[in-house]
Amino acid sequence: MIEDIVLPQDKPITLCMYSGGLDSTAMLYKLLIVDHTPERHYHIHHVIIKNYQRRDIPEMMSAHDILADMKENAINPFTFSTSLIEYPTFNHRTLNDHDAFTFMAANMALLVPKINQVAYGLTKDDIGDTYSDRREKNSHIWNSIYGKHMDRVYPISHLTKRDAWDLLPSFYRRLTWSCREPVWKGNMAKPCGLCRPCKVIASFK
Ligand SMILES: [Zn+2]
Repeated sequence: MIEDIVLPQDKPITLCMYSGGLDSTAMLYKLLIVDHTPERHYHIHHVIIKNYQRRDIPEMMSAHDILADMKENAINPFTFSTSLIEYPTFNHRTLNDHDAFTFMAANMALLVPKINQVAYGLTKDDIGDTYSDRREKNSHIWNSIYGKHMDRVYPISHLTKRDAWDLLPSFYRRLTWSCREPVWKGNMAKPCGLCRPCKVIASFK
């Protein structure tokens, strides 16, 4: 079902880009449950990435279950929406998720003037030495669509992935889905155990 989301007109809105994975769930946990900021509305947006990896379905189930629980426990108000990017891959090469998130976020910010902040769940481990090239490309995407400054924030960039894991209650950890290439048996998906997110998370257990 495609919904027409009614957003509040009386509060500034933080648009939170969400995947259902460990990092962005830790970000939501911090923004919606830990930090009390009722003067702000949070709009959570899940960009569903559909390609040969077939991670879209477990990610959607994670996002659904996590947000259903957060709806009960959040101390700050929020709304939720999704969009779908479905694309072919070539020799198993995929688009950069963060670029896809930025493309969608910049377009949403144009539609909703109350959005004055965009939050991404990047950790300290993501924003290392190798991030500067990606940051520049990402800024080009943002500027070419939105055309002016936006407060783009990284609420858990002071945390490593290990810290993000430690921040999340085990209930939420279990619900997250970070695997890029799930192994399917019938209609059940299991983490592959081989991709980078799988290996990083396995090292925390
Ligand atoms: Zn995996």
